[in-house]
Amino acid sequence: MGVVGWRVRSMVQQWGWNCRRGLSSAAVRSQLENVGFIGLGNMGAHMARNLVMAGYKVTVHDINENTMKKFSDDGIPTKQSPLEVSESSDVIITMLPSSAHVLDVYNGQNGLLADGANLGPWLYIDSSTVDPQTSRKISMDISRCTLKENKAYNDKPVMLDAPVSGGVPAAEAGKLTFMVGGLEEAYLAAKPLLLSMGKNAIYCGGPGNGSVAKICNNMAMAISMLGVSEAFALGQNLGIKASVLTDIFNCSSARCWSSDTYNPVPGVMMGVPSSRNYDGGFTSKLMTKDLDLAMVSASGVGFKCPFGSQAFEIYRKLCADGCELKDFSCAFRHYYDGKDEN
Ligand code: NAD
Repeated sequence: MGVVGWRVRSMVQQWGWNCRRGLSSAAVRSQLENVGFIGLGNMGAHMARNLVMAGYKVTVHDINENTMKKFSDDGIPTKQSPLEVSESSDVIITMLPSSAHVLDVYNGQNGLLADGANLGPWLYIDSSTVDPQTSRKISMDISRCTLKENKAYNDKPVMLDAPVSGGVPAAEAGKLTFMVGGLEEAYLAAKPLLLSMGKNAIYCGGPGNGSVAKICNNMAMAISMLGVSEAFALGQNLGIKASVLTDIFNCSSARCWSSDTYNPVPGVMMGVPSSRNYDGGFTSKLMTKDLDLAMVSASGVGFKCPFGSQAFEIYRKLCADGCELKDFSCAFRHYYDGKDEN
């Protein structure tokens, strides 16, 4: 283990020791008290507000002035650039649309790394869904930097990739699942912060592995949604009701999240996007983006994903056909021509 790992581990050990002595988590928390949050969209706005509710001192930035105004109206400090946010922060969290936006916020003009090699914050957490190569590049860039002020608990900045599963309702309810890649000691130090925005934080291994976990999860989710949709549509064509087939699946070997929690057939389940014309939920556009990331990453290591690439083509077609803002379970209706239950 290098000096960085040793220092962060000492901090975590000190924290554990403090907790055992009944001194609460205040020691570690004070080292993460000032949070800079960048990217206040559908997900990030809720996440930032949950941190404020948990008592962190949050400063925010977004390129959208209207969004910034909503925060400043609520008394939450706003800054005009990522660099300005970093000036008052111990930790930076980014929640941005894609790899290009993340690279811009880190490496662009007035970006987080624009001050050269000397950084203010000691921890950087990117929760955007990006390809693992981007996570690893930024982690490497940060590992080459030093800290402006040497803190007692750390002398080098570190980065975690921590994409999320759960969507907008989970972001609002503070019930996200974080998949975390990077130095394990940094993950342990960041865990209380992550759990102020989520209900699970799972360590996935070294830099980029959180992003690997995220794109593999979403590729499997797309393939299983298409598989279930295809089977329900075939069942309808052969004369069986989807609700009956759902009952069979859910106590048989085809049971999965797409059949028992997020059923794509309108009229089978209440409270899911299929019951409200596929509005809300996880858009086909975002699913297409995630499948694209998976395909690019797969070809980068020379791995073939026949089902993943087929799913990518299907979601590309759905978007081209005007369904990009519909929930991704709309494949049942728009791709397989499936019918409502009643
Ligand atoms: P969004 O488009 O609603 O929000 C992104 C925000 O980033 C916007 O407010 C935008 O103005 C801001 N932004 C863009 N470029 C910027 C820049 N250079 N500097 C500062 N701010 C900038 O996206 P979202 O739905 O909140 O998703 C964010 C990330 O989370 C994405 O990577 C997405 O794939 C992932 N994700 C989304 C969901 C979901 O259901 N929406 C679920 C899981 C993961």
